Amino acid sequence: MFDKIIFHIDVNSAFLSWEAVYRREILHVKEDLRDIPSAVGGDVRLRHGIILAKSQPAKKYGVQTGETLIEARRKCPSLKLVPPHYRLYDRCSAALMEILRRFSPNVEQYSIDEAYCDMSGTAGLYGFPMVAAHLIKDTVRQELGFTVNVGISSNKLLAKMASDFRKPDQVHTLFPEEIPQKMWPLPVSELFFVGHATAKKLFALGIRTIGDLARTDQGVLRTHLKKQGELIYAFANGVDVSQVVSAPLANKGYGNSMTTPKDVTDLSEARLVLLALCETIGSRLRKDGASVGVVSVSIVYSDFTGGSHQTTLPEETDLTDELWEHAVRLFEELWDGRAARHLGVHTGKAVYGKDTRQMNLFTGERPQKLQRLGRTLDELREKYGEDCIMRGVFLNGQICHMSGGIGREKQTVDYEKELKKVR
Ligand SMILES: [Mg+2]
Repeated sequence: MFDKIIFHIDVNSAFLSWEAVYRREILHVKEDLRDIPSAVGGDVRLRHGIILAKSQPAKKYGVQTGETLIEARRKCPSLKLVPPHYRLYDRCSAALMEILRRFSPNVEQYSIDEAYCDMSGTAGLYGFPMVAAHLIKDTVRQELGFTVNVGISSNKLLAKMASDFRKPDQVHTLFPEEIPQKMWPLPVSELFFVGHATAKKLFALGIRTIGDLARTDQGVLRTHLKKQGELIYAFANGVDVSQVVSAPLANKGYGNSMTTPKDVTDLSEARLVLLALCETIGSRLRKDGASVGVVSVSIVYSDFTGGSHQTTLPEETDLTDELWEHAVRLFEELWDGRAARHLGVHTGKAVYGKDTRQMNLFTGERPQKLQRLGRTLDELREKYGEDCIMRGVFLNGQICHMSGGIGREKQTVDYEKELKKVR
């Protein structure tokens, strides 16, 4: 037996499944979106006009996540499109995590529809990992009505790779001794952390499968791909030393992202978008009495490649301006100058009830002043609405001064009308 047993749980076509369950269970609609060619897609006007999730029947037509609604309709004229419903997804996600926490005290939510569970030492409770995985999968299906894949291994990377094997409603293992047979034949683009741009570089080096990558000289990879080369070489060989880190329940990540009304092509635009995102995060932090110790920034370019970059702060903060300064610096380090369509700011290591900032020789009274300003703004917005006061830089701009999240997401979209407009 391996001493570490890690599960990766991944909801199958999450947004679409959740939408389907909602329509059947709550709205009592007979038709199940999962059984017909269907997709969840965003608002064309807000440039969210892309496929976010598709059903298996839609997949058979070649409909792909990330392509525009128009492309998808061209491939499949009968495609039923439904708008995203983010509040519902948040609720489904929370319900899933609640079930997972019944099975393991150590659950790390990785995204809205994915989580790692450290199942080491649970054999006495649930039997072999395979048995426990089926139990989790079936519990989710019975209680919540949607299906998940469970990947089992001795580390997070391999567990994640395993959950991506055949779908839906499956359990797969990928233990180190199974790597040559189960993982090495796969195209290198399917390796975690190998995006579109990296795959292209690897192809140019004659590396087509994960196995090719695992056998490539590390020096060659370092020359062409720097640090990332080292990381994906380790991944191709099944090496991942990261641990499952469960956040305390209250310690949700405070993060926020947005698809920008137009591509971000210069730093001043980026600064504005980041500020709008930080405004919202800052106000949420202060509302919960939380301060964060880590800030990260993510960029999605117009070809849907992207990356993220994070930093640990010298001191936890809940101040919009401080979050923003770190976010801008991270963006400058990460950005490769190409047009970006989606920016995100996320935070971590939240602490609660840390009310006052120490006077610091280097920062002077600035934190205290910003704190008072933040509180005053929060109170005004609480009383008179979010838009009662905003920073001058947002006047007459296209960027909403408090952006991201679900609050302003348009949730009903007339697709027929939208498609006609852009045709
Ligand atoms: Mg998923």
